[in-house]
Amino acid sequence: MRILITGGAGFIGSHFVRNLLSGRFPEISEPKVTVLDALTYSGTLTNLEAVADHPGFSFVRGDIRNVELVNSVLPGHDTVVHFAAESHVDRSIHESLPFVTTNVTGTGVLLDATRNHGIGRFVHVSTDEVYGSIASGSWREGQPLAPRSPYAASKAGSDLLALAHHRTHGLDVVVTRCSNNYGPHQFPEKVVPFFVTRLLAGRNVPLYGDGGNVRDWLHVDDHCAGIELVLRRGRSGEVYHIGGGTELTNRELTDRLLRACGADWERVRAVEDRKGHDLRYSLSIRKIQDELGYRPAIPFEQGLAATVDWYRDNPSWWEPLLDQAALHV
Ligand code: NAD
Repeated sequence: MRILITGGAGFIGSHFVRNLLSGRFPEISEPKVTVLDALTYSGTLTNLEAVADHPGFSFVRGDIRNVELVNSVLPGHDTVVHFAAESHVDRSIHESLPFVTTNVTGTGVLLDATRNHGIGRFVHVSTDEVYGSIASGSWREGQPLAPRSPYAASKAGSDLLALAHHRTHGLDVVVTRCSNNYGPHQFPEKVVPFFVTRLLAGRNVPLYGDGGNVRDWLHVDDHCAGIELVLRRGRSGEVYHIGGGTELTNRELTDRLLRACGADWERVRAVEDRKGHDLRYSLSIRKIQDELGYRPAIPFEQGLAATVDWYRDNPSWWEPLLDQAALHV
């Protein structure tokens, strides 16, 4: 199977590529991968060093908004797994336009080219943030979208565009929506690597508001396992939730991160809350469990300890990024 993977030099995309080419998805025989990635601030080729010499790997540096480039790269592939996005909520609050152009326009360029070249399945990787915020209970896949941040709004727009290509043209589209991921190789602007790298570097960490916001945390390998299932066996035109990790308030998460890094609450500084901060996200994963037999496999404490070990063992990966990532302190 020849797979075009957009955003494959970023956090989740590079995990998917490494897992695919290291044989962790044996049901996909002889995978050949082309990564299309613009290498923005959050993408780096060091995330792909482990597979750089694999005979089934090739890399194209390019922008998904570039119609000519996308139309030259796509032919010959069987399927597209689309990770490329502007992905950080705080950045989208600061400036929304890159989110609109990459997440909506870029996805539109890919969908048109996928249709024009008769490529097969298009897996659109999305997020639980498209639903807004939920005080209690969990969202099912039919929940109306009610995004609240510019990031979430741009992802919701791209989800709808992808599903519209299925309904209008019969394009073989499947959409995944996942909860918060953690793991190695995550750019240290997101809360887990942001806190871990700052704590390891002896710095303080900022906690938004009262720390009461709730997120579900899933190891990136469990996210990738869900995407692989949906790629192979998801029903065309359907949305699948991927989650079922560990639901924690930001205070509870902070406590676990402090302990994992051997630090205490003296290192935490309260900062003004994020504008429009969603209180709680929660996905029901019954559909992917019942239809595809999905189960997350990595317990949070174990995954977090391994993640902290990775950052501890790889300071050359994150030390040059430490100040670049500090948007809100
Ligand atoms: P990331 O920021 O680590 O990686 C994004 C990648 O996309 C980078 O390699 C970047 O260079 C590339 N990219 C950005 N703009 C591009 C463009 N215009 N053209 C080509 N490449 C471009 O993000 P991530 O955390 O790996 O997220 C990947 C996907 O998963 C995103 O679509 C995101 O919305 C979704 N998602 C993320 C999470 C999470 O917790 N991180 C949770 C659910 C869904």
